[in-house]
Amino acid sequence: MNDLSFATIQELKQGLENKSFSSQELLEFYVQKFQQHDDSIKSAIEIFDTKSILEKHQQVGQQVGQQGGLLSGIPGIIKDNICQQGRITSCASKMLENYRATYDATVIERLKNEGALLIGRANLDEFAMGSSTETSAFFKTKNPWNLSCVPGGSSGGSIAAVAAGMVPWALGSETGGSVRHPAAFCGIVGFKPTYGSVSRYGLIAYASSLDQVGIATRTVYDSALVYSAIAGHDPKDASTLKQLEKKDYTTQLDGILPKNLRIGIVKTAFDTPGLDPQVKQLTQDAIETLRQAGATVHEIELPTLEYSAATYFIISRAEAASNLARFDGVRYGYRSKDAKNLEDLYVKSRSEGFGKEVKVRMLIGNYVLSAGYAGKFYHNAQKVQDLIRKDFANAFSKVDVLMMPSQACPAFEFGKFDNNKLQMDLQDYFLCPANLAGIPAMSVPCGFTQENMPVGVQLIGPGLSEQLLFKVGHAYQQITDWHKMHPKL
Ligand code: GLN
Repeated sequence: MNDLSFATIQELKQGLENKSFSSQELLEFYVQKFQQHDDSIKSAIEIFDTKSILEKHQQVGQQVGQQGGLLSGIPGIIKDNICQQGRITSCASKMLENYRATYDATVIERLKNEGALLIGRANLDEFAMGSSTETSAFFKTKNPWNLSCVPGGSSGGSIAAVAAGMVPWALGSETGGSVRHPAAFCGIVGFKPTYGSVSRYGLIAYASSLDQVGIATRTVYDSALVYSAIAGHDPKDASTLKQLEKKDYTTQLDGILPKNLRIGIVKTAFDTPGLDPQVKQLTQDAIETLRQAGATVHEIELPTLEYSAATYFIISRAEAASNLARFDGVRYGYRSKDAKNLEDLYVKSRSEGFGKEVKVRMLIGNYVLSAGYAGKFYHNAQKVQDLIRKDFANAFSKVDVLMMPSQACPAFEFGKFDNNKLQMDLQDYFLCPANLAGIPAMSVPCGFTQENMPVGVQLIGPGLSEQLLFKVGHAYQQITDWHKMHPKL
């Protein structure tokens, strides 16, 4: 069998169809890749044994080698905050270290029904809170391009696994950029769908009004394929959209840039203090590439851009405080051993079960929601969120898509922002606006810094413009080769 490490799903499907290899061989190949490389990358919290992977596959009526599903026989890894029935779902937290999910998340059910082989649980920042995967309670995931750098976060494990060629696709989750951020840091495609287009049932909540499942792949085509498998209304998640019909988003990917495509750029975004000059240059180069391919480029205003991060901090922390209140040592997860009474049990279980970052966020969340402050912080943040939505709607009345940087800087070294929380929080700057507006966005590889670290460019579209984003992103990848570069392991 050829080395399939960096093959795309599209190529693997072809190979399976042509019988160049079997799905059993494919599965064994990727499980072995983890054995070879994951001691150094540390992307996975657990890789299941092949026997149990195949058993789960068969439980939904799939046969090994059976074809016909969108992802038949194609292995992938799942961020460990998405429930897989019978498996632990830890959120990389001591709190849920031994929590075994009793049901499949809707996305998992759909992936299984499309024949996907789910081979493990990927590391993340604890409860998806972070931008570096350093807040995982278990271990730090490394960036496959430079092991002394972070992979980004919070879906760092999912993304590093794909970037290192250990698996062709992964699911992550997004609340404020957690798939696009590591994807940009590791040189792969990261996609966040429209809020409500993918079910959140079985995704352990961080900030429910923002949370979405996201997709990590090598190509935009593959992203469209995985999206086709998981998107659509779900009666178990009332926030999913009824009008979304199931379809295959790859059929329209002809590699041609949509005619008369209008790209919007926010000039002030490029003047953001702290934006790395190499990131800025490579982002501008990507825009120029699409202009030369026939798109027109227009300057537009997005006055709320500079308020988005502050708004995101308040809303995400407030919802986190409320969502994580359920982990009290009684109903789920970690329970302290030596509590004297009920109050003591709550306090000790939460103090011992949660890590520092999660605690800080819950404190801030409770503060911004507390009597006397909620108006000043939380309600004002919601008003700004409304303005952000309007800003985007206004922008999309003039242009079809927006392009801006995905990241403020290239992947940084471990510990770099330990004493500079603000700088770490600024990682969300270009990403969280799309989450606040509920609109789709993707990061696509667009080059490398002089230090040979990957950089991603961001494409943002109006609500439910997935098909358009896939078309533009796919066309860009037909004229560039950045996604074909991979790290040497
Ligand atoms: N970096 C952001 C945060 O820490 C994004 C997290 C996410 O999208 N889950 O909140």
